Amino acid sequence: MSESEQEAQSTGEQAAKRTGQLRECQRCGRKQGLVGKYDIWLCRQCFREVSRSMGFKKYS
Ligand SMILES: [Zn+2]
Repeated sequence: MSESEQEAQSTGEQAAKRTGQLRECQRCGRKQGLVGKYDIWLCRQCFREVSRSMGFKKYS
């Protein structure tokens, strides 16, 4: 049934939005420099702060 939706994929641009997930920082709403780890979307800045409070001081 959902195969009929594949027509929209021809635009290419919509393909990236197909997940339905909102790709933006869950903390400040920024959409740039996102880090999608541990199923949380955070921008780099927030990720650094959050990860620090979570104990990921040394992460490489
Ligand atoms: Zn943020």
